[in-house]
Amino acid sequence: MIEPIIKNHIRYYKGNIPLILSTPHGGEVTPDDIDDRNSGVFDWDDYTLELTEDIVNEFFVQTGKTPYVVIGEISRKKVDLNRQRDVAYEDEKAKVIYDEFHHLIQKSEKEIDKKFAKGLYIDIHGQSHPKAYTEFGYLLFNDMLKLEDSHLEDYQNQTSIRTLCRFSSESFLEQLKGPHSLGSLMCNEGYDSIPSMKIPYAIDGNYFEGAFDTIRYGSLQGGNISGIQIEFPYKNIRDTKEHRQKCASSFVKSIIKFMNVHFEINLRS
Ligand SMILES: [Zn+2]
Repeated sequence: MIEPIIKNHIRYYKGNIPLILSTPHGGEVTPDDIDDRNSGVFDWDDYTLELTEDIVNEFFVQTGKTPYVVIGEISRKKVDLNRQRDVAYEDEKAKVIYDEFHHLIQKSEKEIDKKFAKGLYIDIHGQSHPKAYTEFGYLLFNDMLKLEDSHLEDYQNQTSIRTLCRFSSESFLEQLKGPHSLGSLMCNEGYDSIPSMKIPYAIDGNYFEGAFDTIRYGSLQGGNISGIQIEFPYKNIRDTKEHRQKCASSFVKSIIKFMNVHFEINLRS
């Protein structure tokens, strides 16, 4: 089992498979010597740090391997690790933390690119929308997800899975919401998700399409590593240790299947 390295309030696992997980909003550490931010969003994504740790453990149980993982232990009150630099922090003392987080994701992507020449990046969050679906963000707004398939497929080049077609034998629409999309795989595990075969878009409009880290570290600008943002609901997923472990187990199963279908990578071998 790989042990994490902790530096500048960032927890890092140097992994051994072509998968990176980042968790920017699960930290609660509030150093007194760093001023709070005065503007922006300060919400804590409750227990996403713990859920990510459960996913790391579950990966080891199911595959004997470890993904690359970058977790912020710092509170969003001090620095928002999912924003561009000029709005991420107000106190220059937070710069080193921000840089550590992004440097480690970039370093992980470089290593994966060199070793595997393909890979997946996942940015983990928590939301509190009333329907409590798990939301998968590909940088497509809900209004785009509502479009007829013949129009929706025109948006492939605006997504964080833009280059997944280099590796996957399935079409863009299948990658997004077909039977082997991450949303549908999680639906099969009992976690209703958007987009998926069952729920292609949010009927009530509550849906997060992805933000800074997904834009930056997915394949919108090219490269071999595609990205997906995940917003886990609180109820029955993040709220108790038991629920987090159950969700982690289902999520790892879904990722193993997804990487097998779309990247022809067998994480169990
Ligand atoms: Zn978040």
